[in-house]
Formats: sequence, structure tokens, C-alpha cells
Amino acid sequence: MSNIVLQLSPEIQNEIKAYYATSIVERNAPGVIFAAKLPDTAITMYKSGKVMFQGIGAKREASRWGEVKAKDPVQNTTPNGINAKGDKLPENFAAMSVIGSDETGTGDYFGPVTVAAVYVPKDKIELIYELGVKDSKMLNDALMTRMAPDIMAVCTHSILTLRNDKYNQLQAKGYSQGKIKAMLHNQALKNVLTKIAPDKPDYILIDQFAERNIYYNHIKNEKEIVRENVLFSTKAEQLHTAVAAASILARYAFLREMNQLGKIVGIDLQKGASGKVDEMAANIWLKHGEDTLRSMTKWHFANTEKARKLLEKKRK
Ligand code: MN
Repeated sequence: MSNIVLQLSPEIQNEIKAYYATSIVERNAPGVIFAAKLPDTAITMYKSGKVMFQGIGAKREASRWGEVKAKDPVQNTTPNGINAKGDKLPENFAAMSVIGSDETGTGDYFGPVTVAAVYVPKDKIELIYELGVKDSKMLNDALMTRMAPDIMAVCTHSILTLRNDKYNQLQAKGYSQGKIKAMLHNQALKNVLTKIAPDKPDYILIDQFAERNIYYNHIKNEKEIVRENVLFSTKAEQLHTAVAAASILARYAFLREMNQLGKIVGIDLQKGASGKVDEMAANIWLKHGEDTLRSMTKWHFANTEKARKLLEKKRK
């Protein structure tokens, strides 16, 4: 175990500060209130009260202050002190040259699945951050739509939009959403690697939707499989700007397609998969027919059957 996070009381935090006083190091990362470095352990304390111990001596040091569970999953702590599950990231990861990838649309009945991969070399991290990625918590659809063209102008990227007809075909052939996503991520990463060659990123970070072995099992029959220096983590958009940028571009592509689809039926399509979506689907079905509805939805979602019931009522 080389990365342990404990949630500790203010009293113990003060004890820790005193205990490691001779090993203090300067860390300017946001949210960090104290950092120390021993020969084999780095200790980082966050505003949230979380304290992270990294390195070979992590377990020994963490045990001084709290209970270290034998089977804690590896955790990556974001600058806000939020734990993310996944691969252990190298130290100083946020400052490295990284290709990030992320997807959107998988939970929405209407609209495509989109995946974006973005290369942010280390000399562009600051710029991307300043372009608005730093506020990624506050991002809404309108803001992301405004920022996306800037990101696209600055960074090498690949955006894939899997439209509904193709999605429904793949789904009918037995492809799971996980497999569809994995294939799209692999393709987008391949595209970016090709575009930036002979340059290479230090790492690739995929916003984790499946464990590594499941991901690679999904794409085992692909001709080219991107494997080199690939890391997975949840909440990855908080671990490197490349993933934050990728999630903005994926969202941008999703919204653009939603907009196009909405024009076909003359309404703004509802996102998500709620009862409002069922109602809207039933109305489109009634007015434009089943084929039109199918061509703009993920047909296998439970919403289809719910809309069918609503439609029967409307027809009575
Ligand atoms: Mn994601």
C-alpha cells in the first residue's frame, strides 16, 4: 500500500504539524494547508481534514495517526481533498503532459454518446486552466459551449459522436454500453496519439468507467489497442486539466447533436432519463412516428416502454 488517506480531527492535524515540523516542504497546490517530506513518505494535509500519506513508508506513518484498514483501495486525492478510485498517479502528475479522455451522454435517453480526448502538454496546462477549466465545478452547459472552441483551438484533440442509429445497431448486436464506451475511448486516444506524433504524452488518463482489465477485455479484438502509460481514475477531471478539457469537449459535442436532433421535432430535447423524458418521447412518437423517435434515442432504455404506455393512453 503506498497511498493512504485519513480523515483526521483538528487536534490530530495539529499534532501532525508539530511532529513533522522539521520535514516541512512548500506545496502551493490549492487546498493544501501543510506538507512534509520524509525520505520514504510524503505527507499532505488538506483543508478538508484529509491527510494523505504517499510512498513506501505511508503505512508506517499513517498508522501513527489513525486506523489504516488492510484493504483500503488506492486513492488519489484531488486538490480539493476528494478521494478518487483508480491507479496510483505519479507524484506531480497534474504538471505533466497528459492526454485525457472522457465521455458523456451515456445516461441520456435522447442524443448520442460522445467521447473526447485532449492532449494538454505541460506548457499549456496554465493556459487551459485559465481558459476556464479551473472552475470546472461551476461549469454549466452554456459555459462549456463557450469554452470549447478555445480549448479546441489550443489543444490537439479528437471528438467522437456516436449517433443514435449507430448506437442502436451496436446495442442490438449485443454490445454493452461499457464496450461501446471503451471502443470510443480507444479510438479517440489513437487519433490524438497519431496527430501529435512524434511527440508523446508522459501519460494517458482515462476518466474511469470500468476497471482496467474490464476495459481492455472490451477492446481485445480491436486492431490497435492503446496501452502505453495508460492510467485510470474516477474523478479524473479533477486530477489533470486534460481530462477536464476532454469532458468539456465531449459535453460540447453532445449538446451540439442534441440541438440538431431537437430541430427535427421542433423542441428542445430533455436531457437525462426522467419521467419528463418519457412524456416528451410519447409526444414525439405520437406526432412524428416510431422511426423518428428511435432515430434520436437510445432505444433499449426503459424509457421506450414507458413512452409506449403513455402513447397508448394518448391514443385512447
Ligand atoms: Mn466520465
